[in-house]
Amino acid sequence: MRQKISQQPIKERVKNFFEVALGFSKEDAEKEAARCIQCKNPSCVKGCPVEIDIPAFIKLIKEGKRKEALEKIKEKNNLPGGFSRADNYKYR
Ligand code: SF4
Repeated sequence: MRQKISQQPIKERVKNFFEVALGFSKEDAEKEAARCIQCKNPSCVKGCPVEIDIPAFIKLIKEGKRKEALEKIKEKNNLPGGFSRADNYKYR
């Protein structure tokens, strides 16, 4: 089941410039990662402009290996925070 990312409440965020999306808890991130079916021909990688091995880093998150997951992302992208914002907003 899709996990809902926690967000700063609207009444608070209209008064500041802090992050709106507050991220997943470790448990929710692992639940969300468990939704990936590890496709043989992953369209996520084909759609990624820097071809991050998305199934691999998701698998690492599912296994609770967050540091290794970040290292996997950084193999192809040294600015994951910036890219995640661009991706995140693209689908809103
Ligand atoms: S994240 Fe990629 S590998 Fe996982 S289900 Fe989606 S397309 Fe398939």
